[in-house]
Amino acid sequence: MGLAGCCLAWQRHFRGADFTWEDDDRPGSASRVAAGLVNPVTGKNFSVSWRLAEFLPEAEAFYARVGGLLGKTLWFPLPVWRLVGEKEWSKVAGKLEEARPWIAAVDETVPGWRAAVVLTGGGRVATREFCEGTREYFSGKKGLRQPHSAEAARGEDAAATVLCEGAAGLMTGRLGGHRCAKGEILTLRAGWRADRILIGGGGWLVPLGDGMFKAGSTYVWDRLDGDPTAAGRARVEEIARLLGGADFEVTGHEAGVRPIVRKSQPVIGPLEDGRIVFNGLGSKGSLYAPGVARRLAEWLANETDIEPGLDVRCLP
Ligand SMILES: Cc1cc2nc3c(=O)[nH]c(=O)nc-3n(C[C@H](O)[C@H](O)[C@H](O)COP(=O)(O)OP(=O)(O)OC[C@H]3O[C@@H](n4cnc5c(N)ncnc54)[C@H](O)[C@@H]3O)c2cc1C
Repeated sequence: MGLAGCCLAWQRHFRGADFTWEDDDRPGSASRVAAGLVNPVTGKNFSVSWRLAEFLPEAEAFYARVGGLLGKTLWFPLPVWRLVGEKEWSKVAGKLEEARPWIAAVDETVPGWRAAVVLTGGGRVATREFCEGTREYFSGKKGLRQPHSAEAARGEDAAATVLCEGAAGLMTGRLGGHRCAKGEILTLRAGWRADRILIGGGGWLVPLGDGMFKAGSTYVWDRLDGDPTAAGRARVEEIARLLGGADFEVTGHEAGVRPIVRKSQPVIGPLEDGRIVFNGLGSKGSLYAPGVARRLAEWLANETDIEPGLDVRCLP
């Protein structure tokens, strides 16, 4: 089960609601490879993530609660250093005011860069541990009907099927067009400093602890499979050299497909065939999955309507 299905399972569980699940563990699923990076201000445009102030605290509280139940730390807050070169500086400088609440400092003394914008609110979610722990937790619960797709009860007694299929679901064309993007990631061993996430030059470097790092990532739109490639590895090694240095050992190389409908704005709600969808987490599943899953769980219980910004019926 990926981030969407796992978060929905917990949100159902917290409400005392029943569910069953099934997952075919297909290769290329995104949550298996994701670095779990949460970056408050993203992209070439240096834009504050969509509804960050709402979704970030909810995600933090969610991972703390689930981590307590699983006996694991799932959320690792870390400063995010956005390294900005000379060419992109004027664009980033023009967005500093908008991003001000998330900026701790601007350091103009970093060798090789025009500046580093130090961001607060970022960190890493241990996505693999979260998904594996979730599966184990619910598999071992007696009396819980086992919930990819989660079977959930909507309202009093009508069973509903929720499709949390990630890119595989989008590639069926179920939601019309999509912009799913394959990405490759390396796991590295290196003696670099591990007290910050580095983002720059079109990639990122995330410390995992114990001298281990994740580096990524590529974006490819025309070969949507889970196969690592030599070209992908070469590109990510280039990012690692730029952000960390030349001295590292590659210990892992993985690929997955990001489920993208409209950038990283997820969608939930009913399909014409009566089933329900939770998809489109894009490149930001760690940030949005917990809060969106809660909203879906509330709607499944007939407590709220789905807001238009998330409603699959409002897709163009
Ligand atoms: C290389 C890469 C790096 C990333 N880095 C980050 C990051 O640093 N931070 C971040 O927040 N996000 C990151 N992401 C994005 C993040 O991984 C996704 O937003 C998130 O994992 C999507 O979760 P999901 O549950 O929707 O999909 P998935 O994780 O793909 O899960 C879908 C599940 O459904 C199952 N499934 C699909 N179809 C069927 C079917 N017909 N029957 C049964 N089971 C089925 C699959 O086996 C899978 O388990 C990254 C993604 C990639 C590819």
